Amino acid sequence: MTAERKTRWQTTCAPLSRARSRDPKLAQHPINPNAASRKAQSPLHTLRLSADIDGITRAATLLRDGALVAFPTETVYGLGADATSGTAVANVYAAKGRPAFNPLIVHVASITEAKRYALWSDAADRLATLWPGPLTLVLPQAAASPLASLTTAGLNSVALRIPAHPVARALLATFGGPLAAPSANLSGRISPTTAAHVTDGLTGRINAILDGGACTVGLESTIIGLTDPDGSATLLRPGGLPQNMIEDVLDAALKTPDQTNITAPGQLASHYAPNASLRLNAAEVDPGETLLGFGQAPNATLNLSPSANLSEAAANLFDHLHQLDATGAARIAVSPIPEHGLGQAINDRLRRAAAPRG
Ligand code: AMP
Ligand code: MG
Repeated sequence: MTAERKTRWQTTCAPLSRARSRDPKLAQHPINPNAASRKAQSPLHTLRLSADIDGITRAATLLRDGALVAFPTETVYGLGADATSGTAVANVYAAKGRPAFNPLIVHVASITEAKRYALWSDAADRLATLWPGPLTLVLPQAAASPLASLTTAGLNSVALRIPAHPVARALLATFGGPLAAPSANLSGRISPTTAAHVTDGLTGRINAILDGGACTVGLESTIIGLTDPDGSATLLRPGGLPQNMIEDVLDAALKTPDQTNITAPGQLASHYAPNASLRLNAAEVDPGETLLGFGQAPNATLNLSPSANLSEAAANLFDHLHQLDATGAARIAVSPIPEHGLGQAINDRLRRAAAPRG
């Protein structure tokens, strides 16, 4: 682990309160809108930033501090967060009120940067000639990738895109890192194509909106899977970039998800499950079990959040499951996790992981 990664890991996984007391910038930006407790949280002040140099610089500074900033892309407005910070990504789910964790598309400024996070291939080289644009490539994740595990929902693949919108590109260049960004709307609502749509849904729940006018494509990106060992490309989701343009560049027909054994987008929610069996809502540990704790749990081998902070627990969830798997644990007991705020998404994921395997 590099020194840089170690610092990032410590910042991300230390209890939020500790991280905030160490970092005065974090204290300036409340970034935990609804996640931590049932207590009413005061709404955030959502800044409306114009898409000029000042606004973009301010947005990039906020993102570096772990805040959430909505920004325009040519497809729809994205809700951006530092993709290397599990806590920032957890707050995206909280702000959207998403009841489940799906992997998020990682937006980057350049192909050079994309190669830091993914294992590159000839097909990726060809398809990257269509960037910037409404095209997302799903690739195997690089071993040294610094992305938070919550960003990819624990998968060993990563979805990457270089957007074409000049404001998105300027923001990515100024921020200088990867931004995880699902659509900037409340879960279950229509994707936003203007800053006003974002304001309607997310005011008081996010830190800022960068207003870059109306989105031109208005349709989500086309997603191409490049994780098949045979090197073939699969159309995982039709979108803003037409299939024939992609096939022309590849000089080959795209597979559809049912022609391949890779996981289709709709099935992704059920994807990372530990080898161990899981027992949820465990009040105590039975013999032969390893405890994954939440809150006070002195017998826990790992604890999602000793201070019972749901945002911190979400940020740690996939890492801790992977770590317990790596110990060879056969049975994992999980402390009860409250079924509100981010607890819903955490419990959803744990229930899927605990379900009988087919
Ligand atoms: P969106 O709903 O536009 O944010 O797109 C997210 C979709 O991208 C997910 O539902 C997946 O279909 C796909 N996706 C994102 N990340 C990954 C990943 N790591 N591996 C595979 N597919 C991914
Ligand atoms: Mg969406």
